[in-house]
Amino acid sequence: MDLRNLCVYCGSNPGRQGIYIEAARELGRAMARQGVGLVYGGASVGIMGAIADAVLEAGGRAVGVIPESLVRKELAHSGLTELHVTQSMHERKRMMADRADAFVALPGGAGTLEEIFEVWTWAQLGYHDKPCGLYNAGGYYDQLARFLDHTVAEQFVRPQHREMLIVEDEPQRLLDRFAQYEAPSVIKWIGRAET
Ligand code: AMP
Repeated sequence: MDLRNLCVYCGSNPGRQGIYIEAARELGRAMARQGVGLVYGGASVGIMGAIADAVLEAGGRAVGVIPESLVRKELAHSGLTELHVTQSMHERKRMMADRADAFVALPGGAGTLEEIFEVWTWAQLGYHDKPCGLYNAGGYYDQLARFLDHTVAEQFVRPQHREMLIVEDEPQRLLDRFAQYEAPSVIKWIGRAET
């Protein structure tokens, strides 16, 4: 697939360790080097601000999408290539999903998890065929990856759907795997024959 725009979900907080900010900057630089544009939540704070700054400093494109109600709270970034202010959170998520060719979560909190799980769920249902992944900076997602294996062991998630969520700790490998990704065609419901 042609990876032109990557949607990055990540924390509006910086996290406890500097490694998370540094990892975001590393991904941002790799994206700019390869001409991959950033689509993200539009904030200037936390990991969100760090990746946008890194992309822009390296000469890349950064597009922010933020709901009106959060413009002040999340301190909208003032130096972006484009900033879209939406009426609602749903509109924000829809616009981000539509504008991206792939989705990745960096370290973040509930908002980050909710966003990546939503697009991964849509991928399982065949609503889109874009790759989804976790950038496991500093091992932040190790425990979640183990839990996801548990969801497969307990037969709530098919192995092919678990494998759709690419987990990588090196940004260039993550971008390469996204570029090579082909969506499997497997129906979601375990125990039902494919029709
Ligand atoms: P967080 O990972 O919680 O720091 O949030 C990262 C981003 O997700 C921020 O831009 C939040 O506006 C957004 N966010 C927070 N909660 C939600 C939610 N329930 N649904 C969608 N986005 C959210």
